[in-house]
Amino acid sequence: METPVTINSKLPTAGTTIFSVMTGLAVQHKALNLAQGFPEEDCANDLKALVTRYMRKGLNQYAPMPGVMKLREAIAEKTQRLYSGNYHPETEVTVTAGATQALFTAIAAFVREGDEVIVFEPCYDSYVPAIELNGGKAVFAQLKLPGYSPDWDEVKKLIKRQTRMIIINTPNNPAGSVWTAADMSKLEKLTRNTDIIILSDEVYEHMVFDGLEHQSIARYPKLAERSLIVSSFGKTFHQTGWKIGYCLAPERIMAEFRKAHQFVVFSVHHPAQWALADFLAIQKPENTLPEYYQKKRDLFRSLIQGSKWEILPCQGTYFQLLRYAGISDENDVAFARKMVLEKGLAAIPVSVFYHKPVDKKVLRFCFAKNDETLEKAARILHSF
Ligand code: PMP
Repeated sequence: METPVTINSKLPTAGTTIFSVMTGLAVQHKALNLAQGFPEEDCANDLKALVTRYMRKGLNQYAPMPGVMKLREAIAEKTQRLYSGNYHPETEVTVTAGATQALFTAIAAFVREGDEVIVFEPCYDSYVPAIELNGGKAVFAQLKLPGYSPDWDEVKKLIKRQTRMIIINTPNNPAGSVWTAADMSKLEKLTRNTDIIILSDEVYEHMVFDGLEHQSIARYPKLAERSLIVSSFGKTFHQTGWKIGYCLAPERIMAEFRKAHQFVVFSVHHPAQWALADFLAIQKPENTLPEYYQKKRDLFRSLIQGSKWEILPCQGTYFQLLRYAGISDENDVAFARKMVLEKGLAAIPVSVFYHKPVDKKVLRFCFAKNDETLEKAARILHSF
């Protein structure tokens, strides 16, 4: 008998993500799925027609490595229009297979064995595995309740000679919090005269509410000099399944990003890039998206008023956090599981967004859903 191959996992603690688990349970139990973050609304027919048009036109072979120039120009124009940030389409904009690939590639390009990366918790689940697969070590700064805001004294203590990168994410998934100009100025001060690279995950840039401004790195030239910005069309144009995003960085940083990008994916779905370039010329997401999602947020929050759930602040993203401390003292994973099985409603327990579960009895609900879905969900929440 041959002995089976020994596998020494590079991600020994990673299992199936909670998103797949909860979605699987939701499907199995025919529950409402407010767990995974995707819009129930389909993408625009005009956008679908454009992709078809470019497929028919024969744009079905490899796209240029950094992306279709027309799309890179449209991205640069949007960044200039909204944040006064100047990125040259030739050398400073790259189209990626969603934000996830851009994040992974940025980490692969800059993080070496033994480097430390500061991550704010709770955080999106791809950051830490990407750091670890590249030999780095994640160190954690906690966002503080109730507003899930950064504690800059804590961050200062984490900065060392080995700190290679800081990952930021505003608006924040899962917290729904939005950083302020004061936060950006603290970040600028702390990184001044260091070799720290900032990786800014801005996929929810168009979902900022109550007249607040999205604090893009692109607004801050001093920060922009040391930063990569990542965003995604999936959130913006209701097509998370297309996985098309982009990365912006000054030329020297982008040159390193592209060295890795060409061997991670080389290039991205070609006809969809042409379609998005045309669509960006007629659709200004900033004109419609904040209002669209603010309405959904307000509806969802108003529907839950008077229930036993504590409604936490939500300044951005399409996620609402709700606290059930007044209902049960079970841990959040057990509570979320029970809610699918017994009540037919799926949400994500927020403890899973921490490296060591921090159970504040909070669940994350995605409100990018049709009004009827939100009404049904609210009826269930009132039944507790
Ligand atoms: N960053 C954050 C904070 C996200 O919430 C998501 C999607 N859930 C991504 C990145 C990934 O975006 P994409 O689907 O474009 O890879």
